[in-house]
Amino acid sequence: MSYPDIKITFLGTGTSSGVPMIGCSCDVCTSTDRKDKRLRSSILVQSEHTTVVVDSGPDFRYQMLRENIKHLDAVIFTHPHKDHVAGLDDVRGFNYFMQKPMEIYGNEMTLEVIIREFPYAFTEKKYPGAPNIHLNTISSDPFQINDLVITPVLVWHMQMPVLGFRFGKFTYITDANRIEESSKEKIRGSEVMVLNALRREEHISHFNLSEAINEVQDMQIPAAYFTHISHQLGKHADVSSELPEGIQLAYDRLSIAL
Ligand SMILES: [Zn+2]
Ligand SMILES: [Zn+2]
Repeated sequence: MSYPDIKITFLGTGTSSGVPMIGCSCDVCTSTDRKDKRLRSSILVQSEHTTVVVDSGPDFRYQMLRENIKHLDAVIFTHPHKDHVAGLDDVRGFNYFMQKPMEIYGNEMTLEVIIREFPYAFTEKKYPGAPNIHLNTISSDPFQINDLVITPVLVWHMQMPVLGFRFGKFTYITDANRIEESSKEKIRGSEVMVLNALRREEHISHFNLSEAINEVQDMQIPAAYFTHISHQLGKHADVSSELPEGIQLAYDRLSIAL
C-alpha cells in the first residue's frame, strides 16, 4: 500500500489541565519558555488533499485559529474523555464555510458519549446554527479519509479502550498505560511515534516518563515524541536534556514531515 506524504503538527501537548495549570505558580507553570505552554493534546494531520485532526479538546477553537485552518475534512477521536472531546461544538465554523456536516470518526463508546454530551446536535429539529455532525463508527479495521489510510491501534487507559492511529510511517498514541503485544505488532515498523508521558511518578492511567521510554525502545521505534505532558514532568529544556537519543518531548506547534 502506498501512503501520501504527510505533515503532522502538534496542536496541543498538555495533559487534561493544560500547562500552565490554573492557579499554579510552580517553576513550570511560570516558565517563560514557549515550549512550556501546552494546550490540551491534539494533532493535525495533513496530506496534499486532506486535513484531519485527532481529538477536539477544549482548546480546539484556538488551535484552529492559531494554525489558520480553513478546511477540515474530519475529526478522529481517540476516546471520550473531556479533554479530548470538549471542543467539538466549534466545528460550526467549518460547517458554515464548507457548507457540509463535519465527518467524525470514533469507536462506538466514544460516539455514544458524544451524542450524550452534545444532544442538541442530534435532535430531529435542530436549533439554527447547532453543529452539523456526521458520525462514522470505526473498529480495529483500517479506514480511509480521501487519500489517508488510517489504522486504529487499540491501547489501554486503565480500563478504557483507547484508539491510537497509524498513518503509514507515523503512529499517534495518547492516553495509554498499557499496550498489548497484538497492538505493538501494528505499531512496529513506524518511523515516528508519538506516545503519552505524563510525569515522572507512576500514574494509574498514563505511562510515566520511564515507562514511555521503555515502550519506545521495546518496539525499536527510531524517533519518538512524548505528549500529554503534566506540569509535574518538569520544564521542557530540563527534561529534554536527559532523554535518550531519538526520543524528544513534543511541544505545541512543532511540526514533522514524513
Ligand atoms: Zn487525556
Ligand atoms: Zn483520557
